[in-house]
Amino acid sequence: MRLLIVEDNARLAALTAEGLARRGLACDVARSLDEADAAIAAARYDALILDLGLPDGDGVAWLAARRREGESAPALILTARGSLEERVAGLDAGADDYVTKPAEIDEIAARIRALLRRPGPRANSLLENGPLRFDTASRKASVEGRALDLGRREGDLLEILMRQAGTVVRRSAIEDALYSFAEPVTPNAVEAIVSRLRRRLDQAGAGGMLHTIRGLGYMLRASD
Ligand code: CA
Repeated sequence: MRLLIVEDNARLAALTAEGLARRGLACDVARSLDEADAAIAAARYDALILDLGLPDGDGVAWLAARRREGESAPALILTARGSLEERVAGLDAGADDYVTKPAEIDEIAARIRALLRRPGPRANSLLENGPLRFDTASRKASVEGRALDLGRREGDLLEILMRQAGTVVRRSAIEDALYSFAEPVTPNAVEAIVSRLRRRLDQAGAGGMLHTIRGLGYMLRASD
């Protein structure tokens, strides 16, 4: 279980992270929307806690854009903005809960636990790139409607590459995302998963989408 707190107030972020950690909810902190994007690209979060006034933009617009891109982690907005209009806008943008500051850590923790208990599948769980589709809730992938038979790790890898389609994803980032700290990783583990995924894509006629960028990592890109 891992949460991402997006909050530019360092003291509040630290207090929230500590309080939630003491209640069994491990948290990473992002101090800006840019940092949040980088964190989400590198790890999978079970829930997001989102401030709205951030140095590089507005949390509501960011969340709406993330939802359109397929981000499905439950999101709790934690903000000083408490008007009815602001609450409605936040929930309409894709937030699952809305809490105004100041809030007690016990209430935030209880609300997060409630969000984590909700069963999937969630809305907007579909990632699309060229002929490729991946439903992050059902974990089913297809190429032009033909189902891909993927193991768990190949599916996880495909999700990581699709979320960052068109950019190089470093091998180390893939390793971090696919394996927990406790799991032993053999030197060629990522290569083996990539080659299994590539074989499946090949069989479905989409093998050309998965590019190896020598010395760096991998990139998924629809052919022109
Ligand atoms: Ca703020």
